[in-house]
Amino acid sequence: MFGPPGCGKGTQARMITGTAGIPAISTGDLLRAEMAAGTPLGQQAEAVMAAGGLVSDDLVNEMLVNRIAQPDCSSGFLLDGYPRTLEQGMFLDKLFVERGITPLVFHLEVRDEILVERVCARRSCPKCNRIYNLVFQKPRHEGLCDDCHCELSRRKDDCCEVARERLKAYHKQTGPAIDFFRNRHFHMFEGMKAPKAIFADIQRTLEAELTHA
Ligand code: AMP
Repeated sequence: MFGPPGCGKGTQARMITGTAGIPAISTGDLLRAEMAAGTPLGQQAEAVMAAGGLVSDDLVNEMLVNRIAQPDCSSGFLLDGYPRTLEQGMFLDKLFVERGITPLVFHLEVRDEILVERVCARRSCPKCNRIYNLVFQKPRHEGLCDDCHCELSRRKDDCCEVARERLKAYHKQTGPAIDFFRNRHFHMFEGMKAPKAIFADIQRTLEAELTHA
């Protein structure tokens, strides 16, 4: 699933896995977990992530291969935040060809002007990674996750300055990866709608694709 930072990919990924029964793999979450565990990979990624840049393709590709080798991925998986460069896209495509996988490609679109604003208002649960937004997707109780009741936190890179850098990286580096997958089972979704309405659009597309598969 492609989409700029703050477009709502994580929220949709969560909703899709809830109904499709496949895991959502966010390379950003995997990298943050490596950082929290203080692994060499986490240490290498930390400064790049703090500046809003992209972690090297080799590191991310290896991390992804290890993750999709887990048994919960045997019937499918949803990728959120990967591929982010043309090199990652080509690497992933090779994996798909080797394994006989035909991917569905979703692109969630939101205009740049509102993305930075959205990212700055984003909060997440450090335990279950559920995402909230202080403007349009508030938790039931201020500052607490609806599911785990943990105190919500703000990602270090969710500040306006870093969000702008992440957006630049998205257009410059992820744009070619999107183009690479554009002629596949590629679907665009209007990301300005309410999360439930976007999810309904996604479900309709999924049903149509799976019926014709
Ligand atoms: P995200 O949680 O998807 O917004 O990712 C947060 C940060 O993690 C990004 O700004 C990058 O620094 C890094 N990151 C996540 N996924 C990738 C990827 N596929 N390739 C390179 N860097 C990534």
